[in-house]
Amino acid sequence: ALTAGIVGLPNVGKSTLFNAITQAGAESANYPFCTIDPNVGIVEVPDERLQKLTELVKPKKTIPTAFEFTDIAGIVKGASKGEGLGNKFLSHIREVDAICQVVRCFVDENITHVSGKVDPISDIETINLELILADLETVEKRLSRVEKMAKQKDKDAMYEHEILVKLKDAFESDQPARAVSFTDEQLRLVKQLHLLTIKPILYVANVGEDEVADASNNEYVAQVREYASKEGAEVIVVCAKIESEIAELEGEEKDMFLEELGIEESGLDQLIKASYQLLGLATYFTAGEQEVRAWTFKKGMKAPECAGIIHTDFERGFIRAETVAYEELVTNGSMGAAREAGKVRLEGKEYIVKDGDVMHFRFNV
Ligand code: GDP
Repeated sequence: ALTAGIVGLPNVGKSTLFNAITQAGAESANYPFCTIDPNVGIVEVPDERLQKLTELVKPKKTIPTAFEFTDIAGIVKGASKGEGLGNKFLSHIREVDAICQVVRCFVDENITHVSGKVDPISDIETINLELILADLETVEKRLSRVEKMAKQKDKDAMYEHEILVKLKDAFESDQPARAVSFTDEQLRLVKQLHLLTIKPILYVANVGEDEVADASNNEYVAQVREYASKEGAEVIVVCAKIESEIAELEGEEKDMFLEELGIEESGLDQLIKASYQLLGLATYFTAGEQEVRAWTFKKGMKAPECAGIIHTDFERGFIRAETVAYEELVTNGSMGAAREAGKVRLEGKEYIVKDGDVMHFRFNV
């Protein structure tokens, strides 16, 4: 399963946020395929559509989809040189599919900051630089192998050499790999390097308790936003401390607390949605009398592969998928009405599933 790693310097609020994640925790009985590991937090993906479908179909139960956050502790300056838990930290980042970088934007005299003062941009640059240095090392190693063959005019080596040099140049001017533009073909080669700075990233600005509803006066958040926008990255504003309180609540209680705080959606819910997007994930639904359920797939997946997420038999024996877009189903009010309106399609093996598709798979056993 794809996972987003939570990183950040010490004392920025990572553990507090991660506690909120595990606190909000999904009922793991529903997700037997999820990792059981103290560093992994399984969260349900909030989706308003699931509520609507439940009202429409009135199933016995409703099951949201879930995904995993991984807590990655231990980044310090010098990690790429193996300081502290440096190497371990980097190898943990290598295993995640996207990065959520928590940045301290709250002021609290009682909580020391590793570098002495709150300075989110310097914090971000410290971490990003370690990742860039680690990638530089990877690329230099590879270059030393490819260089000789490239000099002998080996076509493949020359092709790779050009890519590696482009990456090296970027790293040497403090740019991450994701900022370098490549063709799809080049990108396939780049992926094989398993670089850290190619992974998509978002920033989590951790603000003070009194700024949950409105962080527009927080200059640190403004700085993070400006930095992120240059990278085309998203910023989610949370107050980790309050998130852990919200995470203990559910349903109406949660709604009431959010209203008290003056916010529509918890920071954690926003973070979950944004991370899901960042990982390139999307949701399709199954909607039967027994169960209405959301399923996670990777954008671009075809119908049989999506069927295989439910059960391998569904993929192996795949015949067709009865498919209706969520919007169409809701507009028409029922499966029957949608069918009469000609909105229910029979899709075959080549169909690329879309976010919000409501699907019924037909298969041979
Ligand atoms: P980590 O080292 O990044 O995992 O940071 P922690 O989650 O352990 O937080 C470090 C300290 O900052 C703890 O004492 C937290 O209670 C505190 N803290 C975390 N988030 C906030 C916040 O939003 N506001 C304030 N005032 N303190 C926070």
